[in-house]
Amino acid sequence: MNPPRKAVYPGSFDPPTLGHLDLIWRAARIFDEVIVAVAKNESKQSLFTVDERMEMLREITADLPNVVVDHFQGLTVHFARSRGAFALIRGLRVISDFEFELSMAINNQKLAPDIETVCLMPSDPYLFLSSRQVKEIVSFGGSVSHYVTPDIERRLHEKLLGA
Ligand code: ADP
Repeated sequence: MNPPRKAVYPGSFDPPTLGHLDLIWRAARIFDEVIVAVAKNESKQSLFTVDERMEMLREITADLPNVVVDHFQGLTVHFARSRGAFALIRGLRVISDFEFELSMAINNQKLAPDIETVCLMPSDPYLFLSSRQVKEIVSFGGSVSHYVTPDIERRLHEKLLGA
């Protein structure tokens, strides 16, 4: 029997949105196992702790049996190798994502020629959606119910508005 084909989907997920979930769902149809990995980046200010982000990711992926949630520090390709994954999942929304994702993919190819970057596109309601915008909308009192789950919207209110 062939070994399971594993992919790592790395990101900040601060917080996870329905755009992230759309991508996880697509990756889970292609790979035997998808490891959604929260990047622990000390230099990046985040709203939610790594544990909170992992908890939210576990909640929203609970009905996807081949998805696991983890975290890592350091190079994504090293983490992928340590977990026996041969692919990295990244999302492409708009043209502006392309240059950044291409440069990361090329750097990762140099670091780890055995690991492929696979870019997936979300469905159109999520094309202009980012965690940053979700936080901004909530902080100004707007609704993000089309972009995150009700539990994550509640957590955002708690963190950003104290209610
Ligand atoms: P990072 O800090 O690595 O950009 P993010 O959590 O913002 O972390 O994003 C992780 C990955 O998910 C990136 O490849 C990003 O392009 C992708 N992504 C984020 N939001 C969406 C979305 N709405 N649709 C598709 N891909 C997305």
